[in-house]
Amino acid sequence: MRPKVENKMEEYRDKGILVPQALPHNSFVKDYKGEKVVMVHFDAMRYDYFEQMYDEYFNGKLWKCYNGGVKFTHDWFSMHCQQEMNCTLYTASAVNIADWVNIHGSYDTKKWFRNIYGMEAEDYSEELEICLPEQINEYVQKYPDDTYHYFVRYLKPHPPLVHPDLHLPWTAGETKWNVEERIQRGETSVEEIVEGYRLNCELAFEGAVELYEDMGEPDNFFITADHGTALGEAGYWWHSRQYPPLECLTVVPWFEVKGVE
Ligand SMILES: [Zn+2]
Repeated sequence: MRPKVENKMEEYRDKGILVPQALPHNSFVKDYKGEKVVMVHFDAMRYDYFEQMYDEYFNGKLWKCYNGGVKFTHDWFSMHCQQEMNCTLYTASAVNIADWVNIHGSYDTKKWFRNIYGMEAEDYSEELEICLPEQINEYVQKYPDDTYHYFVRYLKPHPPLVHPDLHLPWTAGETKWNVEERIQRGETSVEEIVEGYRLNCELAFEGAVELYEDMGEPDNFFITADHGTALGEAGYWWHSRQYPPLECLTVVPWFEVKGVE
C-alpha cells in the first residue's frame, strides 16, 4: 500500500494522471515488525523513461507522481525529508549531503537521518568520473542500519552521461547553453544524448537489482526519484532551480518492487 501524503496538486489531479509523491518518511514509520525497508532514490529519473524501462528489471506496481514542483535535489530533501526519517541515508553525491546546511543553508540532513554514509571523492570511478550504484551498495552492506531501514541514493541517471563518446559538463543551469552549442556545432546530437541518458538509467536499474538481491529480496523495496531531467523540452537541458516546472522535471516514479525479471 502506497503511503498517503497531504499535498495540493489540483492542476495535475484534474488531468487524472497523477498522485502526489509519497513522503519517504511514511514508509519508515509504518510497523513492519522488524522487516527490512529499502528506499532507492534515482537522482534525475524521469517518469517516462522509468515506465518504459522498469519491466526489463523488475515487476511491481508503478505510480506516476508529482514531486511538489521541485527541480533540485536539495529542494526535494527540504520538502520531503524534513522530519525524523527513522532510517540511515547512503548517498552518492558530488557534494557531501551531510554538509548541505553549510552550502545551501536551512536544511540539515544530519538532523533528520539517523546516520549518513556519503561517498567521498576518492571513491568515484575515475574512468567514468561518477560514483556508481554498485559502490553505494557496498556501503549498505558494510554499514547496516540497526533497524534495517535503508534510504539509498544513487547519483544515476543524473549526468555525466556514461556514453563513451560524450563528455558533457554535468552541473545544471549553464549546461543548457553548452548542450545547445555543442549540438549546433555538430559535436553531438539529441539522439546521442538521449541514448546516453538511457544508458545512465540502465546503470541505476542494474544497481537496484543488485541491491534487491543482496538484501534478500525484501517485501518493502521502493524506488523513487527527486526530480526528472529535461532532454531538450522547450529548449531546456538537465535540470535547474531556475527552470520552469516542466512535466519532465516534476513528474517522477514511485515504484513498489514485487520481484525481479
Ligand atoms: Zn537531484
